[in-house]
Amino acid sequence: MSGADLDLVVRARRAVVDGAVRPCSVGVRAGRIVAVTAYEATLAADEVTDVAADEVTDLAADEVLLPGLVDTHVHVNEPGRAEWEGFATATAAAAAGGVTTIIDMPPNSIPPTCDVTALEVKRKSAEGRCQVDVGFWGGAIPGNAAELRRLHEAGSFGFKCFLLPSGVDEFPPLDEAGLELAMREIAAFGGLLIVHAEDAREIGEPPPGPGYAGFLRSRPPAAEQRAIEMLLETAARTGARVHVLHLSSTGALPAIGAARARGVRVSVETCPHHLSFAAEEIPDGATWFKCCPPIRDAANRDALWAGLRDGPIDCVVSDHSPCTADLKTDDFAGAWGGIASLQLGLPAVWTAARPRGVPLPEVVEWMSARPAALCGLAGKGALAVGRDAGMCVFAPEDSFVVDAAALQHRNPVSAYDGKRLTGAVRRTWLRGRPVAGDGHSEPAGRLLRRTEW
Ligand SMILES: [Zn+2]
Repeated sequence: MSGADLDLVVRARRAVVDGAVRPCSVGVRAGRIVAVTAYEATLAADEVTDVAADEVTDLAADEVLLPGLVDTHVHVNEPGRAEWEGFATATAAAAAGGVTTIIDMPPNSIPPTCDVTALEVKRKSAEGRCQVDVGFWGGAIPGNAAELRRLHEAGSFGFKCFLLPSGVDEFPPLDEAGLELAMREIAAFGGLLIVHAEDAREIGEPPPGPGYAGFLRSRPPAAEQRAIEMLLETAARTGARVHVLHLSSTGALPAIGAARARGVRVSVETCPHHLSFAAEEIPDGATWFKCCPPIRDAANRDALWAGLRDGPIDCVVSDHSPCTADLKTDDFAGAWGGIASLQLGLPAVWTAARPRGVPLPEVVEWMSARPAALCGLAGKGALAVGRDAGMCVFAPEDSFVVDAAALQHRNPVSAYDGKRLTGAVRRTWLRGRPVAGDGHSEPAGRLLRRTEW
C-alpha cells in the first residue's frame, strides 16, 4: 500500500460530466467516486490512469471517459433456458460494451421471476458469476397480484407484464381486469409496472415464409397504439407508475406526451435496433431482425429519433433477447423473436446518432442516467461524487465490423453481424476495478436489490 488517499485516479482530456464533454480527473475510493476535479489537479492514488495518454490506446486523443451504461432490459434466461443465454456470458458481453449494470427480465427463465422463491432461485444462479452488477425485474401474471408486494420488498425493481401471449407458456399475459388489479396493487406500495404494450386484437397471423413484409403487417402500429392508450387510461385511474417497453411505433407518442402533461406517471424506452434498422432493408429469411414489436419503416425510425430528442421517449436500452441459432429459422412466422445486442448498444446508437448531429452526452444520458433513474439507482448513471465508479472509455471516431461469433454473449447470432459500426468501447471499470470484457475477470458484479445498491 502506498498510503495514497485514493485507490484510483482516471485523468481524461475528454469526459462526459454534467451533460457536456470536458477534461477532468475522477478520484475513486472503495469503489465510489469521491472527487471530480480539474484535469491538472494533483490527486495522490495507488494507481493513476490517463485515458488520453495510455500506451494501450493508439487513438488516445479520441477517447472519452463515460459513466458506465445501465441496461434495464436484458433477458438472461438462466436458469431454465441457459442454452439461450446465461449470467456469465451476458455480463461479459455487458462489460465488453461498457455496460456496468443490467436488470434482468423475468419471462424466459424457468421458473419465471413471479414470486420470491423464483427470485431467490435466480439470485442463486447468478451468485458469484457476474462481471457487472445485476438487478432483477419481477413479473405480473394472472393470479400473482398478492406476490407483487412481497417481490417489491425482496428487492425486485418493478414488474413486467404482457398484454398478449409472451411466447412462453410459463409467462401468460394479463387481461384488462388483471392489469387493473396489478396496477392498483402496485400503486398501493409505490412500485413500477413495465409493459410489453401490444394489443392482441390488432394482431394477425403472420404468413409463413421468409418475407419480412407479411410479418410486419401482422403487427401493425395500431396494436401498440391501442395497448398504450388502454395502459394510460388504467394508469390515470389507478395512479400507478408505468413504463412502456421497447416502443417501436411512434403513433402513440402524442397520447403519451398528453398523459404525462396531465400528471400520469409514464416513461418510455426504445431500442438500438428500432433506431438503427428499417423494414425496407431487411432481407428475406433474415430472422435475426425479428422482434416484437417489429422494426418498422425508415419514416417511423426518423420519428423515433425525434421522439428521443424532443420527448417523450426517455431512454434507450437493448432488449437483448437471444436464443440458440436453430430457433432463428428462415420463416418469419415461426422463428423466435428477439435481437441480441447487449455488447453493441452504444456503438449501434452512436453510429445512427452521429450523422444526425446528436452530441455524445445526449446519447449517454439516454443510455446511462435515464435508465438508472427509471430503476431508482441513485448511485449509478453519472461521473459525479458519491456515485459508484462504474466507467467506460469510448472511442467515438473508431469503427469496426461486427463479427457475431466474436461477441461475448452465448450464441453467435446478432442482427448487427457484418455491419460496420462507428465508435468502440475500449475499457470498462466496475466500481473502480478494470473488467476485461472477455469474461475472464474475477466475477465482482453484485446482485442488486431495489433497496440497496
Ligand atoms: Zn424484452
